[in-house]
Amino acid sequence: MNWIAWNKVIAPIEYGGLGFGSLMDANLAMLAKWWWRFKVQEKGLWKRVIWAIHHNSRSWSAIPAKLSIPGQWKQIINIQQHLSRKGIDLHKHTRFPSLFGIVGWRLSAVQLGQQGQEAGELSGLMGILSSVSVSSNLDSVKWGLHQSAEFTVRSIKEILNAYSRLEPGYKFVWNSWVPKKVGFVTWRAKKERLPTRAALQARNIQVNSVMCALCGDYTETSDHLFVSCSKKKKKALNAIVQALNAIVHVTMWSIWMPLANE
Ligand SMILES: [Zn+2]
Repeated sequence: MNWIAWNKVIAPIEYGGLGFGSLMDANLAMLAKWWWRFKVQEKGLWKRVIWAIHHNSRSWSAIPAKLSIPGQWKQIINIQQHLSRKGIDLHKHTRFPSLFGIVGWRLSAVQLGQQGQEAGELSGLMGILSSVSVSSNLDSVKWGLHQSAEFTVRSIKEILNAYSRLEPGYKFVWNSWVPKKVGFVTWRAKKERLPTRAALQARNIQVNSVMCALCGDYTETSDHLFVSCSKKKKKALNAIVQALNAIVHVTMWSIWMPLANE
């Protein structure tokens, strides 16, 4: 039985999930790495092979792609569409798209004073360039989604994972002192996704009674069991006393052990 929608389970922790992300997103991020490598790697036989197969002398794109040729490279190129639907633009550097499009083969067609998209962009570009001082370093491509400007698969995954998710009003805080499986029960209880009698009945499982197994007075929900049930209070009190006792033991042990080892 599915107790929690898969999409909610894989959500990042800050969005109320367990934070392991989707395989599809991970795959997209890994494919984007190839896209990125093509841009930043100067040499490499694989890059020359791709260029030889896919380069079109009339195209201006920095990443060559002949879409009529099937294969892995076509799939890698196509991830742009998946990513742009989720707000990641791999072509983000094209601030002047029309101008960029004509660089190299008909730049001479652009004249200042001429009307049109390219002329407008060119004057905008010149305005920005007038206040720029150029360093003597070689040009390089920077990754905009990470502070270090280095490409990371993780930076893409984080954006994909968060896409169209809402942060819950109540944030579940994972306690690192308790084992994961203990936190997991609390996480499920908060979402009312434990197999309590009420939850089982809601999923059409035959139960003898939906009333609380401890007090028998109220419907057995996670909320009732862990918060309002009067009978659980004695059990809870015993557990708290035992937990405090454990803390005292551990404190005494951690004071004593360094002394004993001297
Ligand atoms: Zn009860």
